[in-house]
Amino acid sequence: MDHVTVITGGSRGIGAATAARLAAGGHRVAVAYQHAAAAAEAVVAAITGAGGAAVAVRADTAVEDDVVRLFATAAAELGAVTGLVNNAGTTSTIGPFAELATADLRRVVDVNIVGAFLCAREATRVLPRGGAIVNVSSAAATLGSPGEYIHYAASKAALDTLTIGLSKELGPAGIRVNGVAPGIIRTEIHAVSGDPDRAERAGAGAPLGRPGEPAEVAEAIAWLLSPAASYTTGTILRVAGGR
Ligand code: NAP
Repeated sequence: MDHVTVITGGSRGIGAATAARLAAGGHRVAVAYQHAAAAAEAVVAAITGAGGAAVAVRADTAVEDDVVRLFATAAAELGAVTGLVNNAGTTSTIGPFAELATADLRRVVDVNIVGAFLCAREATRVLPRGGAIVNVSSAAATLGSPGEYIHYAASKAALDTLTIGLSKELGPAGIRVNGVAPGIIRTEIHAVSGDPDRAERAGAGAPLGRPGEPAEVAEAIAWLLSPAASYTTGTILRVAGGR
């Protein structure tokens, strides 16, 4: 099968590493982003410069029309879409639950649940037999993130339930749905949480003694999308250094 894969949040961090890894493995990739146009174009330029096929598409995953346009553009530019890396996500300032701002709660739910569900729904409408979805969850979904961001952890637990339910619904259609649950990975998301050094500090407490790299998560995503994982569906693969 020719792989044409949509990667939401492909401009930076785990999404950008996944775009590079999948393109190196022969996927044609749509690199979706919200604001970081230059970063997304740089990811695309690196791929096309190495002989691959990629396109950058601006799409706020929490906006239904953007999601529909993202998949339509990917198909028009690269061919029929066969896979989704449902990766775009956000968090908000670290703090105790009592101090959670309602606007932060709504934004996290809007992006991490509504947006991810809209992308999965659009993929469900277009993926062929043999297609696959990987939802990017978090180890937080089972750890709960007390004192940091319980609402974020809960949003990822919702995504895990989507993975389980959708894998069962789409199994008969020959479409696999899996998740990855990264631990503490060295990306810019920690700056959003108001603690840019969090990856170094908290990562040191993982059994493997360090934060993970985006490329280490990309490797798991690439396997789950590949024919090598042909009997794997409904699973959430932890890439969390033992956390
Ligand atoms: P990151 O470096 O902050 O990158 C986030 C990406 O998501 C960016 O490409 C951003 O686009 C995009 N994005 C955010 N909100 C969006 C929206 N509403 N619509 C479209 N795109 C949006 O984050 P990351 O650490 O790579 O995280 C990627 C995923 O892994 C997230 O789902 C996150 O929850 C999960 N995760 C991360 C860690 C970690 O420690 N880093 C751990 C567990 C799980 P722009 O560049 O245009 O802003």
